[in-house]
Amino acid sequence: MSKIWPFFNSRCPRCGKGPVFKNKILSFKKFSDTLEECPKCHLDYEPETGFFFGAMYWTYAMLVAMTVTLSVLMYMLGYFDYAMYAIPVLILFTLPWVFRYGRLLMLYIVYPMMYKEQYEHGVREDYHHNEKQS
Ligand SMILES: [Zn+2]
Repeated sequence: MSKIWPFFNSRCPRCGKGPVFKNKILSFKKFSDTLEECPKCHLDYEPETGFFFGAMYWTYAMLVAMTVTLSVLMYMLGYFDYAMYAIPVLILFTLPWVFRYGRLLMLYIVYPMMYKEQYEHGVREDYHHNEKQS
């Protein structure tokens, strides 16, 4: 099953159906609040405390990549003098997305690598129906 669609739609990395975030992207207060588990397959979104701390590195990497890309682009177009204004504006307006994709990258890449068993079969501890979906 393709993971591209669920990834870009902020869906559960395992079943691709349940939402990951509590709020809509434009609810500026808590745009990166994550649900505790997938409402569909009950995948625990936080396999251990502080799991999403790693999202910081993805966020940082994305911000660096964006800054470099925009700088190069503006340099090539001859507007490099404006880059110091354009870059903070770009970062400010894309921050909600960058934060959310930082968390999604944790769920889609780091989770299956570091918590394989839990990712494939686990359900949240307080969920006892023990049904498996794929
Ligand atoms: Zn799910």
